[in-house]
Amino acid sequence: FERKKQQLGVELNKIQRKAVERTEGPLLLLACPGSGKTTTMIMRTGYLIEEKNIAPHRIKAITFSKASADDMRERFKRFFPELAPVDFSTIHSLAFRITREYLAGSSYLMIEGNETNGLHKKRLLKEMYQTENDEPATEDQLEELMSFISFVKNKMLPRERWSALKEPFTGAVEILKTYEAFKENHDTRLVDFDDMLTLANEALEKDAAILSKYQKKWDYVMTDESQDTSLVQHSIVEKLVERHQNLCVVADDDQSIYTWRAAEPTYLLKFKDVYPNAYIMKMERNYRSSGTIVNASNLFIKANKKRHDKNMFTKQEEGPPIILKRLSSEEDQLKYLMKQLTQLDHFGDVAILYRNNSSSTLLMSELDRLGIPFYMKDADNRFFSHWIVEDMLNFMRFSLKPERVDIYSKIASKTNAYWSGSQLRFLSRMKPASTHALDEIPRNVTMKDYQLKIIAEQKKWFEAMRTMKPLKVIRTIRAELGYDQMLASRAEKFGMRLKYLSQILVTLEQIAEPLSSMMEFAKRLKELEAVTQQAKAEKTDEMLTLSTFHSAKGLEFERVYMLDLVEGIIPTEEDAEKPDTLEEARRLFYVGMTRAKKQLELISYGSGSRFIDEVNDIVLPEKALSAPKRKAVATPVKVKVPDNPNAVGDQESLVEGATVRHRVFGIGEIVERDHERISIQFAKERKDLMIDICLSYKLLELING
Ligand code: ATP
Ligand code: MG
Repeated sequence: FERKKQQLGVELNKIQRKAVERTEGPLLLLACPGSGKTTTMIMRTGYLIEEKNIAPHRIKAITFSKASADDMRERFKRFFPELAPVDFSTIHSLAFRITREYLAGSSYLMIEGNETNGLHKKRLLKEMYQTENDEPATEDQLEELMSFISFVKNKMLPRERWSALKEPFTGAVEILKTYEAFKENHDTRLVDFDDMLTLANEALEKDAAILSKYQKKWDYVMTDESQDTSLVQHSIVEKLVERHQNLCVVADDDQSIYTWRAAEPTYLLKFKDVYPNAYIMKMERNYRSSGTIVNASNLFIKANKKRHDKNMFTKQEEGPPIILKRLSSEEDQLKYLMKQLTQLDHFGDVAILYRNNSSSTLLMSELDRLGIPFYMKDADNRFFSHWIVEDMLNFMRFSLKPERVDIYSKIASKTNAYWSGSQLRFLSRMKPASTHALDEIPRNVTMKDYQLKIIAEQKKWFEAMRTMKPLKVIRTIRAELGYDQMLASRAEKFGMRLKYLSQILVTLEQIAEPLSSMMEFAKRLKELEAVTQQAKAEKTDEMLTLSTFHSAKGLEFERVYMLDLVEGIIPTEEDAEKPDTLEEARRLFYVGMTRAKKQLELISYGSGSRFIDEVNDIVLPEKALSAPKRKAVATPVKVKVPDNPNAVGDQESLVEGATVRHRVFGIGEIVERDHERISIQFAKERKDLMIDICLSYKLLELING
């Protein structure tokens, strides 16, 4: 087995081998990014089959996104092409299987994704919101509502506790209750994606036949990326393995990035309570990334307080420096990135990562223009159906078709004419105008003098827009027709992030910039929407990958560009409010950094993310090639090294046998060293440290040589 794996270029290290061979009983593998968690799981699977003669269908591997299930299946095939496939799946598809059996015989309908059966979850929630609030929900509110419902279900929160929950916006709990009641009282029982988890768990709890069937189905269960597992998901897994307890859980608490969706990483801390005979292992050696990337990421994540202390290290070469690029605008960022990309000769091992999918719209537009092939993880076209985009198009349509009262009535309340509810109702009943709607409206709707004046002004602007370039049109809508003002007041009223909303306008302006007419603009949006659609295609070897940080988890690329690293985006103001959320944002950033094998570039503009400053403080100044050149005032690169006159300054004195005091770990003895690392035995543990970092951070004092 060993020899064969060596031929494949992966020679398992001692700990990995131990994890592979320890097949019986509960095992928790808590390990750093790139330390071979997924690899070890795959090898363990192969080992079970080849060495322990376990039939492939007796093994179950669970992961938490479809992308990583695909990734595992692919890796398994690469390592064990001759073996029958193993069941790698997401927890949701497992839950679906169980639920289907549980509900067999009774009639029920699934409500998720599929618009055609008229029971689309989002649409239901939209209607319920409308009834509750007497006005339509925004796309963002609907998203928040869906996450909230997911959260409640995944936390297994009983109904009695719902009222005490912190709502994403006022009234969310009410809608949740309405939604649940609707599903229960519907002619046929309705089941959504989250209910599937709850029901699967209930099935295993209440239906002895199902429980016994699934407990007997698999002899070995493994779960990858378990830091993102929620309580209800853990609970399902617990029941599955109750009989044999052959469970291998693989996780990295530093990569827990779904607590907003009720992931429960603290469960890992209690692993021994659930499985008293559990064996816990750590893996800290990173095989993925260069020395520079590993060391910088390792120090970066240490800023988090709530974590298992780990010390990621690598024996790989130092590699090229991490590049910190600060530009003055989003536009410059795009230009810079495109220039970088056009210098590459292949894209298959390159990824562009960002926090929000909205960052990708312009990017795709440019990539498409330059003919660079790309594919997008979790592509979604939400941008194009965002109400702001709809609004802009409606303003434009109305300017070109001024008789269309119906179009104006869609945007009236978003202009500066102070439309009241009853006036809008009158407006909505008006027939199409024979000339300019804004001339005829005052004859049909009773309006105040100051409103009439504004309406007359508006007419001038709408007429002027017809000959303007689209960029100017958008700016006119924002400044002269009151759109920006409306956006600000809505953001405040509904607790939406203004920064995010404005971002959409900025993106639209950038799309509009090179174009010369509104018609062209509308056409370009359609084209881009089609490009997004295309980007969902299967990835081929030549394609550049675009992905959010979230969806890139578990993956790796030679070269990674992290984009839009700006305060307000990562972290958001909301993240920055509380230590816990700030730590989650830092973990997200860390997931991004640790995807890179060799080249990592962090790009920002405007007010750069504090996380870039943190990386900057870690990366040695001479190594930060294009360390931030802030435009107006050039600030020197900061390196926070506490002054310590007694610190060891040269590596010659760090010899085996020497006793040292480490700033963080205390007193210990150097037990081993090579040209770049020293291994120190401290009172409680042994640590492998980079000499380079110890010296430049003045971490060590010599106690006796
Ligand atoms: P993540 O936390 O990002 O999911 P991971 O711990 O699952 O990372 P893997 O993806 O399994 O890490 O491995 C990272 C890289 O290191 C892969 O390219 C893998 O082939 C390589 N690798 C893992 N173990 C070894 C080893 N013992 N020898 C050589 N390469 C290895
Ligand atoms: Mg992995």
